[in-house]
Amino acid sequence: MAAPEFDVPKLKGYIEIPSIRPGAMEGIKSFEANEKIQEALGYPGKLVDGWEQKAVNKMGEMLRKYRSLQVFLDACVHCGACTDKCHYYLGTSDPKNMPVARQDLLRQVYRRYFTLPGKLFPKLVGARDISKEVLDDWYSYYHQCSECRRCSVYCPYGIDTAEITMAAREIMDSVGLGQKYTNEILGKAQRIGNNLGMPGPALEDTLAGFEEDVEADTGVAVKFPIDVKGAEVLLVTPSADFFAEPHVESLIGYAKVFHAAGISWTLSSHASEAGNFGLFQGSYENMRKVAMRIRDAALELGVKRIVVGECGHAWRVAYSFWNTLTGVGAGAEDKYAQMLQKQLDHSYPQPSHICEVTLDLVKRGAIALDKEANDHRIVTFHDSCNVSRGSRMGNIPGGQFIIPRELIRSAVNHYHDMAPGTTHEATFCCGGGGGLLTDDLIEVRVKGASPRANALKDVVDNHGVNFLALICAICKSQFTKVLPYYGFDMSMVGGVHQLVSTAIRLGAKE
Ligand code: SF4
Ligand code: SF4
Repeated sequence: MAAPEFDVPKLKGYIEIPSIRPGAMEGIKSFEANEKIQEALGYPGKLVDGWEQKAVNKMGEMLRKYRSLQVFLDACVHCGACTDKCHYYLGTSDPKNMPVARQDLLRQVYRRYFTLPGKLFPKLVGARDISKEVLDDWYSYYHQCSECRRCSVYCPYGIDTAEITMAAREIMDSVGLGQKYTNEILGKAQRIGNNLGMPGPALEDTLAGFEEDVEADTGVAVKFPIDVKGAEVLLVTPSADFFAEPHVESLIGYAKVFHAAGISWTLSSHASEAGNFGLFQGSYENMRKVAMRIRDAALELGVKRIVVGECGHAWRVAYSFWNTLTGVGAGAEDKYAQMLQKQLDHSYPQPSHICEVTLDLVKRGAIALDKEANDHRIVTFHDSCNVSRGSRMGNIPGGQFIIPRELIRSAVNHYHDMAPGTTHEATFCCGGGGGLLTDDLIEVRVKGASPRANALKDVVDNHGVNFLALICAICKSQFTKVLPYYGFDMSMVGGVHQLVSTAIRLGAKE
């Protein structure tokens, strides 16, 4: 790894609150989307004439539509409880990365145009005219927020900075200022069905390759089916599972689970992506377009169950938004949503997370795991933000924390949690979520990962941990890239189903 062009925080094994360094990250900006990328999503190709008024109008439209946005912008009392809770502030020392300061970038403009005191006495109430300087700050700092929602856990008013970040991004998109990374990927998912832009035949070839590899490795003909009509389960998984390491190891794990349990399953070439970058962008319309591909595929294939693979934000969209966006689960009332309701088997949660599916099979004895096969591993678990704070799993409170841990413990003998205050609902973001997983933001990503890296160092040093188990495709990509900056080996990163894959006894049937 070439020497970084920035200072990498020193790890101490505990989290220290830094002194502020104003402007530390001011010049850091991710690449802007070009005209082609923007226009494919229905946005202006570049900053429009009169963008200032149009941005204010868009803000007004959103305030009318999303009541929570106005409440969040009005409710803050500047108590300061959130100031040291953001991993990007802890890693960069830039005060504009404090959640309250990040919110204020939008709040100042809100006050100026939508409150009486702000219209009459702007300076007295911290109101500010919209300007190019403001827009530059929005672009920079709203793309240094991973929408992880950690700060909201500590806010006495429950103010959700992620929702403010999403609103700011949607306003910027509407006047022609979009982020290249998120918008380009979103366009591919809407057009082709996955974030990679990988067409169906290429996917079929890749899956055939996995079948050969797994059979060579285990002697068992584990299938990776695609577009199989009448399969019981439609598996929707992040497309990184098809090509990236260590993600593919989890895909192999899911396939082994379905094989061992005798469950018929299929992937879909039409909906070969669980990820949904519409969430990062803040656009429910764009989120819906990606989600609808999954509903279409489920109807077309006639499946009884929809299962989501290891992906944090995908699970949040599936668990929290599919109902109202598409009617998967229940909710939407159009004809096709109702057809899907009749088709799905409601004795299972719809959708289900792959971890709850696998743990249920383990508990019922439908699959068997040999823990000793993982005895070379001492494991810890990173709770992903969108699973921890934006969704749930199973039918018990806190299921999103309990189920992955129970599944890991059923597959390994050696497990240690990281320090309290860094796990469960207080988990630290990996530093690459929310549309930040791009190399033009590598400094933000490395520095933002420092709180998690500090907690990891503690269990590595004191318990010999050598495997960081994850249930998120973004966390996997982010940690394999940034942990080497802190002296960790990238091979310590892997999926929960990688552990299952190692331990599973193939051939055991229900
Ligand atoms: S990155 Fe997370 S903790 Fe930081 S401001 Fe955004 S939502 Fe809050
Ligand atoms: S904790 Fe909540 S009320 Fe206090 S400063 Fe932060 S956002 Fe405002």
